[in-house]
Amino acid sequence: MSTAAAEHALGRTGAEESAARARGLTKAYGSGETAVLALDSVDVDIARGRFTAVMGPSGSGKSTLMHCLAGLDSVSAGQVWLGDTEITGLKDRELTRLRRDRIGFMFQSFNLIPTLNAAENITLPMDIAGQKPDEKWLNQVIDQLGLRDRLKHRPAQLSGGQQQRVACARALASRPELIFADEPTGNLDSRAGLEVLGFLRDAVDELGQTVVMVTHDPGAAAHADLVLFLGDGRIVDEMARPTADAVLERMKRFDTIRGASESEGDSGPGLDSGRGSEPERGSDSGRGSEPERGSEPERRSEPERRSEPERVSDPSSGSDRTSVPEQGGDQSSDHKSVPDQGIAPDRD
Ligand code: ADP
Ligand code: MG
Repeated sequence: MSTAAAEHALGRTGAEESAARARGLTKAYGSGETAVLALDSVDVDIARGRFTAVMGPSGSGKSTLMHCLAGLDSVSAGQVWLGDTEITGLKDRELTRLRRDRIGFMFQSFNLIPTLNAAENITLPMDIAGQKPDEKWLNQVIDQLGLRDRLKHRPAQLSGGQQQRVACARALASRPELIFADEPTGNLDSRAGLEVLGFLRDAVDELGQTVVMVTHDPGAAAHADLVLFLGDGRIVDEMARPTADAVLERMKRFDTIRGASESEGDSGPGLDSGRGSEPERGSDSGRGSEPERGSEPERRSEPERRSEPERVSDPSSGSDRTSVPEQGGDQSSDHKSVPDQGIAPDRD
């Protein structure tokens, strides 16, 4: 049998259609009485060239799933592949290199280096790695994100939306196989959030990128091709071609189930310790604090997003802008603190 035929027989060609995949992915934090099963034997395939959103109530395991798929966190059991490379079992050094070369990250709190300008921030991971950016690609990304005239600005001189666009450009700069974004619009007002979502959408449609985005905003999830719903560490549902309304409806069912099980008092000890504390957060955000997102239709085609007037046009006036709102503001879930992993050089 030829190598190709053997690989086909082994199903490898099929595996390569997934940008990332997990089997039996399990992650426990702590042990004994206080153990939290953040992921409970998750099987998932992230389709290449698609935009996948991950949703679920606060504490359902969204960030943990992203971190485990991205090799930012170790797993307790199960296997994770990036393309056809199994990353579970890789040594730290190999994992760091793989992350650097093949994955781009965006976080809620942007994680830009304040002393570097936008251009320097965008190329920092590649500079650290001693890689030369593909200039043509880089220019395309910069223009697509509307950052051409912001390259010399430092983060404090940029609006939140612009900072996240810089973070988006940084994630794209090395043309990674996969971009992971954990609540990338969580610190942005709805308009800037829509811009960033539009750029992620374009990265998939026009640049062929694969994007996995954690969000608790149904309106944000509606930009994706597929939504995976997590509940108590398991994938409990998925929705193709989501709309904000349909996602919102689906999310409401988590409240119902949770409410029912809580009133029956059958939430098991241990497993629920981190989840039961903030029952409404995950689904509330779409209708409570930012009602306009969940209900706004057809954001995908919003034509003016690239021509939006910049909110801070004069860099000299930027000093009064306290730029980064609520660094690490998602206390519910981001306590693992992986601030600079996306741009980190080999640490070992
Ligand atoms: P989400 O992103 O959906 O809000 P997370 O993935 O952050 O949820 O967390 C899933 C569960 O794991 C929660 O119960 C959370 O409290 C717990 N958890 C997450 N990270 C840690 C950690 N470093 N130590 C202990 N428990 C954690
Ligand atoms: Mg989270």
